[in-house]
Amino acid sequence: MTADLSVARICADAATGLAIGGHWSAGSTGARFAVEDPATGATVAEVASASVADAQDAADASARAFASWRTVAPERRADLLWRAHDLMLEHSDVLADLIVLEMGKARREAVGEVLYSAAYLRCYAELAPHAGGRTGPGPGGSGRMITTRGPVGPCVAVTPWNYPLAMPARKLAPALAAGCTTTIKPAEQTPLSVIALQRILEAAGLPPGVVNVLPTADPDPVTRVLIADERTRKLSFTGSTAVGKLLAARAAERVLRVSLELGGNAPLIVFADADLDRAVEGALEAKLRNVGEACTAANRIYVERAAIDEFSDRLAARMEALKVGPGSDPEAELGPMIDAEQRARVVGLVDDAVSGGARVVCGGGALPGPGYFFAPTLLRDVPDDARVLHEEIFGPLAAVRPFDGEADAVAQANATEYGLVAFLFTSDVDRALRVADALETGMVALNQGRVSNANAPFGGVKASGYGREGGVEGLDDYLATKYLAVAVEPAPEAGIGATPE
Ligand code: NAD
Repeated sequence: MTADLSVARICADAATGLAIGGHWSAGSTGARFAVEDPATGATVAEVASASVADAQDAADASARAFASWRTVAPERRADLLWRAHDLMLEHSDVLADLIVLEMGKARREAVGEVLYSAAYLRCYAELAPHAGGRTGPGPGGSGRMITTRGPVGPCVAVTPWNYPLAMPARKLAPALAAGCTTTIKPAEQTPLSVIALQRILEAAGLPPGVVNVLPTADPDPVTRVLIADERTRKLSFTGSTAVGKLLAARAAERVLRVSLELGGNAPLIVFADADLDRAVEGALEAKLRNVGEACTAANRIYVERAAIDEFSDRLAARMEALKVGPGSDPEAELGPMIDAEQRARVVGLVDDAVSGGARVVCGGGALPGPGYFFAPTLLRDVPDDARVLHEEIFGPLAAVRPFDGEADAVAQANATEYGLVAFLFTSDVDRALRVADALETGMVALNQGRVSNANAPFGGVKASGYGREGGVEGLDDYLATKYLAVAVEPAPEAGIGATPE
């Protein structure tokens, strides 16, 4: 078992980067699109771009492969995931370099992403033989009720650019464990990590067609074909709420199972009784992980009035001290943003807040290029209607606002259409549990700046989506329950099993 992986090889082979039915190709049209290094703006690879004809081929391959993959013993599916896990760790340096190259994050965060991705392979290798089901007596006492859980069917996965390896791993691992096949369409900005992941799965023994990879410059028509195919049974989407709504509406036409991991606008709440050291470090991590380009990023920081000056000064000092630079620089703690468009959007959020009266405590805007660097920025005195409080920021910018008491903190935190995660810092256990209950989010992190791990159910409520990824809940999303009603005839002797079911 070996995977011949190097950054140069993945970049060169990207021109034949469509994996359909076990074959790599340049696609039916030969069209390509460029992948850029966000630290320099230079093109690093030309990637094959899938057409609607390729999408149809992938749907065929996925459906064909499903017929046999669903019958493969769960333990054998687990074996594949274990081998892929080991290969991923063996090639963690190459994978981290690829993530840095196409997405820009600091290398140590890229290494963290590889480990996080491998953890999903491990989690679902362990869970593959535990699809479960239950048995019990019928309500009349004589029959039996048996439920089994089997794979939903061929799936379509659409993933974003911010975690180019982890988001695909988080979808493919439970799908493989459950016995589903998948056609995955990565984000245009970051297809290289998925191509590398497919190479790893192949080296681990992936049968042809069980996973198909469709990079494309034209996601709308390609995903339309995949969703419309009558054999597709599930759509799993991670990305913006706007695109999630669009794809969910299309999936509804086909009554597909849908999982949506969408945008966030996380509040981070600091009570005056909190350990401020932990709160500052937690806020730094929750805000600036992944250059702030994370769905879980703390956008809105609410601090109890008595602590707001000290907290803001300390957080600003930590933010200013961070070294911003290319992800490939081992000293860099914060890489570039993904592209010029995202950076301009965040500049616009700062300008909007400042024009409404906000004060810049540190940072303030774009840094000189090449590359799309942005100074970590903290705002205070942000007006209620500032866009920065209502839109997903997706960059290294945060707004600090005061609150007075629990009810005010909860009201401000919940004043958003999003509901993915909230961060809460307090040393009062009763308060922690009360406030956690009152927050309208799928996840709450208490006294820490991170929430996700492969064994936990990751996901949101409200406009942040539905469905869960990670842990047993993540496997559930790829399984369908079948109920078998078993008749047990009563014994001929009177009185035994009186009511047949
Ligand atoms: P995006 O919605 O623009 O793109 C996501 C994916 O959808 C990409 O693969 C893209 O090619 C595809 N896409 C875009 N338009 C499409 C269309 N019309 N038809 C079909 N496919 C289309 O999001 P993004 O900018 O890549 O990623 C950032 C977003 O992802 C943020 O909102 C972030 O919060 C969210 N995100 C959520 C989670 C989570 O788990 N909740 C995790 C990571 C990122």
